[in-house]
Amino acid sequence: MKDMPQCIGCGTTIQTEDKNAPGYAPAATLEKEEIICQRCFRLKNYNELQPVSLTDDDFLRILNGLGTQKGLIVKIVDIFDFNGSWLPGLHRFVGNNPVLLIANKADLLPKSVKKQKVINWLKREAKALGLKPIDVLLVSAHKGSGMEEAIEAIENYRNGQDVFVVGCTNVGKSTFINRIIKRATGAGDIITTSYFPGTTLDMIEIPLEDGQAIYDTPGIINHHQMAHYLDPSELKYIMPKKEIKPKVFQLNPAQTLFIGALARFDFIKGERAAFTVHIANELIIHRTKLENADELYENHKGELLSPPTKQHMDALPKLVRHEFSIKEAKTDIVFSGLGWITIQDPNVVIAAYAPEGVEVQVRPSLI
Ligand code: GDP
Repeated sequence: MKDMPQCIGCGTTIQTEDKNAPGYAPAATLEKEEIICQRCFRLKNYNELQPVSLTDDDFLRILNGLGTQKGLIVKIVDIFDFNGSWLPGLHRFVGNNPVLLIANKADLLPKSVKKQKVINWLKREAKALGLKPIDVLLVSAHKGSGMEEAIEAIENYRNGQDVFVVGCTNVGKSTFINRIIKRATGAGDIITTSYFPGTTLDMIEIPLEDGQAIYDTPGIINHHQMAHYLDPSELKYIMPKKEIKPKVFQLNPAQTLFIGALARFDFIKGERAAFTVHIANELIIHRTKLENADELYENHKGELLSPPTKQHMDALPKLVRHEFSIKEAKTDIVFSGLGWITIQDPNVVIAAYAPEGVEVQVRPSLI
């Protein structure tokens, strides 16, 4: 059989037999110089996702290959979903290769936040999570800020070797790589980017001038993220597109906040305290009395409390309660993929509710 070409969108090998498998393109397109698989074609043109059967084992297999290569690993995380996009096991895959940590989506953080403060925070958190990056950078692949510095750092640290870009789905890896390609070639949007998690398949090779290459590895699906429990049509409401405007609530104990029907936050014990909510600006927060919260949720989920809408409410796992006793002021309660609530005052007891399977984490305040 002759070698089949690769899709210019996602890098997967083109096949013409199975419409439901990755890489499908109609046979007629094989005549073309640049071939794009049907899935990428649709994504580009309609922003519509076709389900493909790519298992966790496939990702593991590809990642396992990383340890056997020599080169610079560029690990991209989403600053808005730091914990959810971290890829905890990565150090097991990278062997002795240096890791450059790049936090993307800096444009979502309030402008008042100092970049260096965030970088210091990232360094501390990375260390606590067992990773010793060679350097830590903060960028916005979307806006382009910090990208020159990132490209320079990659060039410096790769030492003439290949570069492997890894990250969880949705961290903006394709956007990041598109920026690099655009700078190198002047061409835009060669790799598929989209709202949907999990759209980059197989490794994409981008040749560098010295004969080495940048490899875009597949995005790893992190099942703890909120995005995997939502209908794609509702993802756009939870993923912020602009600078987050923090919302401050002064709460008395026995008060509750609902973030749509997706999350709930109970202030259980403590003095009257300030809580700052960092989520997409479009999401609506409802404040109520703790004693009314259960009933409010049951009667109004999918309507007053949305997203999700009533139509998609059934797909959302039930909310699970996590109770925390917080001693330190300035502590974040993170709802993976949705955002976080900063507890500004010390010595409070709170309960955070998230859909079953979505992680809730506690960390020193990012901002
Ligand atoms: P991938 O799955 O990691 O390849 O991520 P994509 O590049 O497809 O991006 C996922 C989503 O994040 C898309 O909706 C992008 O528009 C968005 N995105 C990517 N980079 C940035 C960024 O720097 N800032 C913001 N606000 N959004 C970004």
